[in-house]
Amino acid sequence: MPRLSRRSFLAGSAAFAAARPALGQSSTGQATADVDVIIVGAGAAGIAAAHTLSAAGRSFTLVEATNRVGGRCVTETQSFGVPFDRGAHWIQNPDINPLTKLVARTGLDIYQAPSGQRVRIGQRRARESELEDYLAATVRANRAIVQAGHGRTDVDCLRALPKDLGDWRSTVEFVLGPYANARDLGEMSALDFSKSTDRAFGAFCRQGYGALLAKLADGIPVELQTPVTQVDTQTRGSRVDAVTPRGTLSCRYMIVTASTEVLASERVKFDKGLPKRHLDALAKLKLGSFDHIALELAGNPLGLQRDDVVLERSSGPRTAALLANVSGTPLSLVEVGGGFGRELSGQGEAAMVEFAVEWLAGLFGNDLKRAVQRTAATRWDAEPWALGAFASAAPGGQWARRAMMEPIRDRVYCAGEAVHETLWGTVGGAWESGARAAEAVVRRLAGLPEPQSSAAPPKPEPQAAAQQGRGAVPKPEPEPRRSRTRAKPRPERQRSRRRRH
Ligand SMILES: Cc1cc2nc3c(=O)[nH]c(=O)nc-3n(C[C@H](O)[C@H](O)[C@H](O)COP(=O)(O)OP(=O)(O)OC[C@H]3O[C@@H](n4cnc5c(N)ncnc54)[C@H](O)[C@@H]3O)c2cc1C
Repeated sequence: MPRLSRRSFLAGSAAFAAARPALGQSSTGQATADVDVIIVGAGAAGIAAAHTLSAAGRSFTLVEATNRVGGRCVTETQSFGVPFDRGAHWIQNPDINPLTKLVARTGLDIYQAPSGQRVRIGQRRARESELEDYLAATVRANRAIVQAGHGRTDVDCLRALPKDLGDWRSTVEFVLGPYANARDLGEMSALDFSKSTDRAFGAFCRQGYGALLAKLADGIPVELQTPVTQVDTQTRGSRVDAVTPRGTLSCRYMIVTASTEVLASERVKFDKGLPKRHLDALAKLKLGSFDHIALELAGNPLGLQRDDVVLERSSGPRTAALLANVSGTPLSLVEVGGGFGRELSGQGEAAMVEFAVEWLAGLFGNDLKRAVQRTAATRWDAEPWALGAFASAAPGGQWARRAMMEPIRDRVYCAGEAVHETLWGTVGGAWESGARAAEAVVRRLAGLPEPQSSAAPPKPEPQAAAQQGRGAVPKPEPEPRRSRTRAKPRPERQRSRRRRH
């Protein structure tokens, strides 16, 4: 394998260098091919790590396997002529989300997501009393899982559910499992669930969350289409080598932000393999399945408002959630996840679109079929450099997130959404994780002792409160606190909209 020279690497990134300041070039004039740090992956974690290293004046090279930045947070406009977030769309926890603090410098437009959800029962709206039943069932289910998470032995979330959720059981299982966490409740750790930070409030970026992240990558040189296929930690003493099809790069420390599924698949091989503790951790942090089926609906045939979320009282796992009229455009997203979502995505885009249209017709009538224009569906399980949506811990596997923070052979730090104990499965969590890994590396480079935070103690949690939701799922606070009710579903005409800007 040829070693990549400074000249060849700079030539490869000439387009970026011309357009952007050479952030990756060190102030000491080191070659980008032989730098303090190599960052593997230009998703949220990788971009955050680059910001941190740049601020600390450290040299780095950011390599990305695909031909774009953003990873699982990407916006495209080609399919519909309006922003389509193929991955992350909800800016979770805008008050504490590290990206919202940076919005001002992007010039993009952020607004508060409407709270609440609409619920359909067949082709009619749920009545107020039915919505109250649904809310109560969701709150009780949340409370039961959180309490199980505080028990001595971790259990799966399904086992923790109350037995008497009645007609709403299936909906509650969907909302707390596939919709919020990309996994069926039976595959999820109650402890992991209970540790997740309140995600009841969200915001949207009118130009797309992926567009926001891409803006934050402006000025950072990224070596696109440069997959790292092997990491050598033992061949050259205190240096680490990254083998890519374009040559071998060398650094003192490496930050790897590939998804847990990519790491487990050995698309990135480590000399002598990964340590057993990391292998065991990866086995506990498998990615769930979550996809958007995007439909362009002419003339608002559903009669819904901007960014309305619609659920149904379902009778089994073949269900979905709707995010209608995304940011006021004709684009609506039917969202599927968990075991059913994985099975459906395995059948291909045409089957996904067919399901979405039939599902919507079941709720709003067959007439809407005439309004369907362009369509698209994501299939994250099949994306070779993601292999899934995001990682919730398997029962008994919550420890794995912290284990993944431990450096590999003292030189390689893992970062990304799965490596965050409370904000896992979010862009904000991935960002924080990348920034923390970079902070740990900066300290090491300065000869300072390993900070505790490289094994990153989580920041104090605001509350172990609401379950995350792509749209606000109420979650009770542990006793004796009172439950929050701000996110409760409301009858259609009683909705209020609070906007941030
Ligand atoms: C459909 C969907 C909906 C979602 N909805 C939300 C939401 O509403 N709100 C929210 O906050 N989060 C959401 N998420 C989760 C969020 O997108 C992720 O948590 C976050 O984007 C992960 O960032 P990351 O940096 O950890 O990983 P990634 O984004 O996966 O970045 C890793 C990067 O590394 C690259 N890479 C991998 N292997 C290599 C290699 N060997 N060499 C070089 N490069 C490599 C990949 O190509 C990728 O670009 C959603 C995810 C999906 C899939």
